[in-house]
Amino acid sequence: MQPIHVKAPAKINLFLRITGKRPDGYHDLYTLMCPLALYDTLSLSIGGKGIVVVCDHPGVPQDASNLAARSAHLFLETLFAGHAPPVSGLTIHIEKTIPVGAGLGGGSSDAAAVLMALNDYFGQPLTTQALMALGTRLGADVPFFILGGPALATGIGDRLEPFPHLTPWTALLVYPNEMVSTAWVYKNLNLRLTKDEKKLSSFHFDGRLFNVDEHLVNDLEPVTERAFPVIRAIKRLLLAHGAAGAMMAGSGSTVFGLFADPERAISVCTALCDNQQNKNWTIYVADLLI
Ligand code: ATP
Repeated sequence: MQPIHVKAPAKINLFLRITGKRPDGYHDLYTLMCPLALYDTLSLSIGGKGIVVVCDHPGVPQDASNLAARSAHLFLETLFAGHAPPVSGLTIHIEKTIPVGAGLGGGSSDAAAVLMALNDYFGQPLTTQALMALGTRLGADVPFFILGGPALATGIGDRLEPFPHLTPWTALLVYPNEMVSTAWVYKNLNLRLTKDEKKLSSFHFDGRLFNVDEHLVNDLEPVTERAFPVIRAIKRLLLAHGAAGAMMAGSGSTVFGLFADPERAISVCTALCDNQQNKNWTIYVADLLI
């Protein structure tokens, strides 16, 4: 049988506000998420024995802890509860393009892509809603990738409402080769929370019009920036090169700049790549998938 090929997009949060902390330790968010035309490629081959992941990225686990493997396991366990699944095994090859630990949601997107690919393979036994509910068990961002398209998220990021009002933007993404643990960022956010709650009351978003000047805010940025000052330097650089706005992606360490003109984003990318000082960075240009 031919392998099944699927693409898993990255995402950015155009704003990310922390609205509170739950008794279970998770944080409540108010965030606008948008997928990007920057993709991992996954190939699923049915057969063999057990669930195997193959990925040559050193930061990605190749065992059962890989989010793509956990996703396949959860899907098969849900669909064939108590019965032997009709497939003896599955091998998932992941060609990683989305940087790892970068705040771009790569692992969650891989997990969502596997859930959707397996659901298609078995004739779509689960509705999108049911798939999203399964996804929540793998990670807060997984349902967003199943829904597809820009969305406003509340709760821990899992309560989603499509957001069809975005205008086109091209993102220039700079990953400074610093892997950041999302758990670490949230742990270090706690002390700042009271201040953030106050700030939220002055955040005016009417639920429709996203405005780069007013709404490009990320409450996680000061936490990660304190440990990785390069984030502030990249933001300044992107703004100096004409970005309409620049901000850290998710929990970091990627920084993105938004450009209305894709050609401009490409020429700035070339200029930054040519500068030897930036040779430790990985730089991408990707349109927002609106
Ligand atoms: P988020 O913004 O959703 O927190 P991130 O982009 O910061 O995600 P990921 O690239 O998803 O981070 O990786 C987070 C961790 O998950 C890494 O430590 C990595 O080892 C692990 N991981 C497990 N499976 C995968 C996968 N398929 N792809 C990438 N990372 C994975």
